[in-house]
Amino acid sequence: MGDTIEHRIPDVLHALEPDGGVPLIFDSPHSGTTFPDGFTCNATPWQLRVNVDVHVDELFSHVVRQGAGLLRALFPRTFIDANRSVREIDPSMLEEPWPGPMVESRKTKVGMGLIRRHIVPGVLMYDRPLAVDEVRSRIDTYHAPYHQLLSDMLDRAHALHGAVWHVNCHSMKSAGTPMNIDEGKRRPDFVVSDLDGKTSGPAFLEFTAESLRTKGYEVSVNYPFRGAELINRFGDPSGNRHSIQIEINRALYLDEKTYEKSIDFEVLRGDLTTLSAEMVAFVEQASD
Ligand SMILES: [Zn+2]
Repeated sequence: MGDTIEHRIPDVLHALEPDGGVPLIFDSPHSGTTFPDGFTCNATPWQLRVNVDVHVDELFSHVVRQGAGLLRALFPRTFIDANRSVREIDPSMLEEPWPGPMVESRKTKVGMGLIRRHIVPGVLMYDRPLAVDEVRSRIDTYHAPYHQLLSDMLDRAHALHGAVWHVNCHSMKSAGTPMNIDEGKRRPDFVVSDLDGKTSGPAFLEFTAESLRTKGYEVSVNYPFRGAELINRFGDPSGNRHSIQIEINRALYLDEKTYEKSIDFEVLRGDLTTLSAEMVAFVEQASD
């Protein structure tokens, strides 16, 4: 195995990319916690914390030793969401009309667009309209570099191996909230998704689900999460680019009241280490 290339933009992102490793890239867009100096909003520290995919970057940190790449955002999704399109703008939050293209997605409607309107159901993130320049600057400084580096890492792996596999990593609350389509329902241990087959060949998604089931976990496929912008943007199975999303139930590794790691954290991390080792073997065989 060759060297590891480190990418670092302070307060924005951090990545480790094995030079010529296996064409397998993990990314954690929601585990960041650092707001820029002077940032203010209506949310309490607790409300900001429950919206972070806490420790997900740490749960996958071992993949670099296995020859895969890992990119993580250092900024919080509640500041700007790397797993949204730059078109998922909510015009009702802005001081002036948005000058660029916009799409009205379900997530924007419920207040979870590129810039969040609701921190938790019914609670507004800001008590003031945002300036267009402020939103633009968040896109240029945080969202764009994250997307660019992920794109570059996937392209480099694809150029070397003719194919690339991408795992977009998240955590979910153990039950749905009114902002989700499964309000009040208990969730499985894992949800793996590929936008209903759009972003990955079926073999990789099925392999991942089966590997988790073999470890004793309950796994749901494409429900209640189908995947979002990052796999949508980078998955292209016909071009041998396979992107899947993994949602981990937080009850597997956190105390959901205190957000501290539970005693099961290491058990889960051990199983995820086995999962990614199996993925490495899968990718090596599939890219031969
Ligand atoms: Zn997430």
